[in-house]
Amino acid sequence: MISEDDVWKCLEQIPDPEIPVLNIVELGVIRKVQITNNHVTITLTPTYSGCPAMKHMEQEIQRSLKMFKGIHLKLETVYFPPWTTSWISVEARNKLQAYGIAPPEEETERKAALWGVESKIQCPRCKQQQSKLISQFGSTACKALYQCQSCMEPFDYFKCL
Ligand SMILES: [Zn+2]
Repeated sequence: MISEDDVWKCLEQIPDPEIPVLNIVELGVIRKVQITNNHVTITLTPTYSGCPAMKHMEQEIQRSLKMFKGIHLKLETVYFPPWTTSWISVEARNKLQAYGIAPPEEETERKAALWGVESKIQCPRCKQQQSKLISQFGSTACKALYQCQSCMEPFDYFKCL
């Protein structure tokens, strides 16, 4: 008999295709796991609509749950409530920073949008808040490229929604 725990443990083994230090559970895209007899329903919310990583994630989920014989797997995508960067766990934020990606700062981002000023994203390396936006798009569409004005290192910033 498969349990919800088994499924969550299995999902935690799947890395985010764009940020390999995070798994898809830490990223907050898995909303719900439901099991009725041998029917497993996993509810997902995509991070960014049209994020190409989503298809890949679904394939990985299907592949990794194959280890449970005789289950019927159903993946459901829900768009409401929309995914927000606040669903990323504290632990995951720390991992992002250690990996060299500035974790999302919702407050900063909102203010920046409101006032039209450049947000001062903290450099994941030297922790200084003197960064400059280089490009709205970093290594993937979900990230922006910043450069630290203190240590001059360029870094990816995980954009807020
Ligand atoms: Zn720096």
